[in-house]
Amino acid sequence: MVAAGVAPAGRTAGVQLMDNRQPSRRMALKQLVSLGALGALGQLRAPDLLAANPAAPPAGPIPGVGGRIVRRQDASYEAFRQSLVWHRSKPTRYPDLIVQARSEDEAASVIRYAGQNRLKIAVRSGGHNPTGASLRDGGICLDLSGLTGIEVDRERQIASVQTGARAVQLVARLAEHDLTFPTAHCATVGMGGFLLGGGIGWNHGYRGGMATLNIAAADLVLASGERVKATPEQNADLLWAVRGGGPGLFAAVTRFHLQAYPLPKAIRVSSYILPLEKLETMTSTLDRLARTADPKLEILALLMHNPEAPPDAPPEQSKICFLTAFAFGYSAEESRAMLAPLAQSPIAREALVREEEQPFTLMELFPKFFSTSTPGGYMGRYAAESAITDEPGRILHALADHFRTARSPVCHVIASYGLNLRAREDACYSSIARHYVGCFAIWDDEKEDETYYRWLEKATTFMDPWAKGHYVNEVEGQRHPERIRLCYSEASWNRLGELRRRYDPQGVFHSYLGT
Ligand SMILES: Cc1cc2nc3c(=O)[nH]c(=O)nc-3n(C[C@H](O)[C@H](O)[C@H](O)COP(=O)(O)OP(=O)(O)OC[C@H]3O[C@@H](n4cnc5c(N)ncnc54)[C@H](O)[C@@H]3O)c2cc1C
Repeated sequence: MVAAGVAPAGRTAGVQLMDNRQPSRRMALKQLVSLGALGALGQLRAPDLLAANPAAPPAGPIPGVGGRIVRRQDASYEAFRQSLVWHRSKPTRYPDLIVQARSEDEAASVIRYAGQNRLKIAVRSGGHNPTGASLRDGGICLDLSGLTGIEVDRERQIASVQTGARAVQLVARLAEHDLTFPTAHCATVGMGGFLLGGGIGWNHGYRGGMATLNIAAADLVLASGERVKATPEQNADLLWAVRGGGPGLFAAVTRFHLQAYPLPKAIRVSSYILPLEKLETMTSTLDRLARTADPKLEILALLMHNPEAPPDAPPEQSKICFLTAFAFGYSAEESRAMLAPLAQSPIAREALVREEEQPFTLMELFPKFFSTSTPGGYMGRYAAESAITDEPGRILHALADHFRTARSPVCHVIASYGLNLRAREDACYSSIARHYVGCFAIWDDEKEDETYYRWLEKATTFMDPWAKGHYVNEVEGQRHPERIRLCYSEASWNRLGELRRRYDPQGVFHSYLGT
């Protein structure tokens, strides 16, 4: 999960200002709280027979494929390749072919063709992976972003969603049926990568913790090109792998069948801004409240840049804590009751700025979380690290001094309280704890890549001592492929390796970066 962007102007109603500073400077925090800070800113080594004997793709069409095919020698190749990764850290990895499938049948044709021609495949859905994992050297990048179909079975509360659908598309479609799903907080994140890696979605704590645990069934294409369905009764081992297999699965998922939930109709949101010096107030209160909070209350706590800070202020004097609590109630009373403990807490008493019980629909939360001026958030250079933890407060304290040194105003740390994960035998997802903390390095200048990658690396030394696991969608797997392994239990990792050898013996699908 990431929050980034620049807060635009907009709603200001219901804000209580708790300080007496200059109105113009006060305005920045007021706008921030109004709009959302969140908007401001070797087991798995593929058998690899193909890599040992890489083949050049034959010229000519791919049988059964009418979608766009871009080859490395084409004039449009580089612009197209770069467009496949959402942020501005474009990997220096170059597939021979980029193929856009127009249907699930076409996806199967591409994979069959790859196997027959000894080409490796990397799959892309929404292109939001921080490491740009769908761009690999050689072979085919199979772009499934055009597969965006969504069908809803209202009675069974099941949404059948093609892998290229975006978070906002699913939320909008389900709302027509009074249903919802814990999609990513950012409107444009693709369902494919989000679900396969885990997925910390809206009101996750009430909906299984990780969205992937809500995959009731999946349609896949295997390395052979065969299309199969994975359900608890049929190909249950594939369903197990789909639930958390992440950016290195040994198959392509074309469609997910997702357990949906009744739409909460009375969402209320309270936000508080505190100086970073009050971090202890925030963490001690949240540690206490999180133990008894209703799982329908989602709490996000950020360390972020203070937009009120003068431009020449040193980075260590320009950081704040920003807390947002989203009550996903089914009645206004229920939501109010969820938010009341926060309103009566030291956080509210010591806040510089607060805004309480603001009504939102789920669709309105997307721009609350991310900037409306930059759809999908701030598009900088980008790298992420994460911890799945029972001790978010300890991580925030351990990180605070290091965070103060971040010069880029869009770097941030985000703690999400209340994942409440439990180990499940029917899912390979296996980083189990109650909460999550993510650290995001976001910057503009390519010349500063090394500085920010090192800054993030150092952040992990403060996070890891309190981590019970990591989130595979948010670890820096390009420079540190060993961190991908840390996202899985030993048993899950070993079984993923066994399944890869069984279902993809030739290594048609790229495994995880660096493996
Ligand atoms: C702005 C932003 C906001 C985010 N917000 C959140 C959030 O709120 N919660 C959260 O949990 N995460 C969040 N993320 C992280 C996000 O979950 C991951 O980046 C995820 O990988 C994105 O999925 P995608 O389909 O867009 O990415 P892609 O880059 O297209 O896919 C990532 C990888 O997944 C695999 N893959 C994708 N589709 C398939 C498929 N159909 N079959 C087989 N393998 C496939 C491939 O290995 C691919 O390289 C956010 C990321 C960004 C950049």
